[in-house]
Amino acid sequence: MIDFSLSPKAQDLKERTDAFVAEKIIPFESDPRFLDCQTGVTEDLRLELVALARDAGLLTPHLPEKWGGADLSHTERAAVFEASGYSPLGPIAMHIGAPDEGNMHLIEAVGSDAQKNAYLPRLASGELRSCFAMTEPAPGAGSDPNMLATTAVKDGNHWVINGHKWMISSAQGSGLAIIMARTADKIEKGKGASMFLVETDMPGFNEIRRIETMDSGFVGGHSELKFENLRVTADHILGELDEGYRYAQVRLVPARLTHCMRWLGAARRCNDIASVYVKNRKAFGRRLADHEGIGFMIADNEIEIVASRLMTLQACWALDQGDDARQESSMAKVFCAEAIFRIVDRSLQALGGSGAMRENLVERIFRDTRLFRIYDGPSEVHRWAIAKRRLA
Ligand SMILES: Cc1cc2nc3c(=O)[nH]c(=O)nc-3n(C[C@H](O)[C@H](O)[C@H](O)COP(=O)(O)OP(=O)(O)OC[C@H]3O[C@@H](n4cnc5c(N)ncnc54)[C@H](O)[C@@H]3O)c2cc1C
Repeated sequence: MIDFSLSPKAQDLKERTDAFVAEKIIPFESDPRFLDCQTGVTEDLRLELVALARDAGLLTPHLPEKWGGADLSHTERAAVFEASGYSPLGPIAMHIGAPDEGNMHLIEAVGSDAQKNAYLPRLASGELRSCFAMTEPAPGAGSDPNMLATTAVKDGNHWVINGHKWMISSAQGSGLAIIMARTADKIEKGKGASMFLVETDMPGFNEIRRIETMDSGFVGGHSELKFENLRVTADHILGELDEGYRYAQVRLVPARLTHCMRWLGAARRCNDIASVYVKNRKAFGRRLADHEGIGFMIADNEIEIVASRLMTLQACWALDQGDDARQESSMAKVFCAEAIFRIVDRSLQALGGSGAMRENLVERIFRDTRLFRIYDGPSEVHRWAIAKRRLA
């Protein structure tokens, strides 16, 4: 039987996160280091926010206790991450935003003890940021990961990495990168690519540019990278050689769901902002809220908030039962990415011209959530995979 009830520990964390975001974090939304920053927040504000979360005992709660977390199950994460996402600054403060949260999860799941000891304490404390480098310009890997063009070639005790990546979130300012590279001549049956854990100051790790994009949701923005004879020893391989595609799923299946959780919190915030507006603003002799057209928008938002939460919880519950949950995660990702965008879009519409203003948080969340339909698998690719699994 499916049971979504929260443990006392998760209930307490959720309530403390609600209070933390309302009292400590939302006031920073008018700070120019957030308002005027196209790359999430400035690094000094990020560190200030992380310090607040540390003081509140809310830093990286998803990690096992050994690494300073609260050892939350996937289902428990859903409540806490949604509460955190109520402000775009919440996940940054708690250091549970993408790509760091997924990277920590992956290193914890498949890394060697030496890799965990080297990086997890600094990642868990928020001192270190990381990025995940998979996507390449054409003709390299995009929607189709098998088109991976970056290579890692064995040379004695070393591996030499060459390749070109772009849209790599948070690369700027990251000290650590997980690089996906081809390690076999042929990609066959999900084998032939590997992940490398590389410190970004190593010779051959080059940032070409930070790409200007429509969103401001990722700390550091998105970068184009070139690896030119980037030489690493075998202990930089994350987990086992040639298992990169399998590990990508270990990372992405839950990482897609944490995006759903955080953006659901943001969508709920937009609905709240719009609800306050329509209760106070009048048109044609009555409150906007009393016009059926607006009431229906808020009703649709309420319906899709609950539906998104349940889709996410169902996939989390499957993961918590030990299922690989690939189908559930794909379905939740498509549904939530599209429903959340509709919620934010309706909220913006109900706000009239004020919804278009940069100073209005809904405008920012609108730009950010549009892209959720593309990363971690575009909606079309997930639909295609869902049908393929169903019709096999
Ligand atoms: C905000 C943002 C952050 C990102 N962060 C990262 C990151 O940190 N690391 C990283 O490695 N990558 C990142 N990406 C890249 C992202 O993962 C890719 O954009 C995505 O996988 C799609 O690849 P592509 O851009 O090459 O699109 P393409 O592969 O060129 O596809 C273009 C479009 O074709 C359609 N399409 C593709 N396949 C099918 C199919 N089978 N059936 C029907 N339609 C299809 C889809 O609509 C798709 O959007 C990020 C992207 C964005 C927008």
